[in-house]
Amino acid sequence: MAAMMNMTNLLNGKDSRWLQLEVCREFQRNKCSRPDTECKFAHPPANVEVQNGRVTACYDSIKEIETLN
Ligand SMILES: [Zn+2]
Repeated sequence: MAAMMNMTNLLNGKDSRWLQLEVCREFQRNKCSRPDTECKFAHPPANVEVQNGRVTACYDSIKEIETLN
């Protein structure tokens, strides 16, 4: 599965590493007082998989944010 995703990234000429966001450690302990939009770290919902303390952001969601700004 992972190899297949890497292959897709290569074919698209996209490097997904820049989409990796560090997960807020305070948020993971329910201690972060900042809202998601003000914290510089990611506040992933429970259904998002966290790997090595990081989450991979959806490319389309980032595009959407840029459009709104
Ligand atoms: Zn936070």
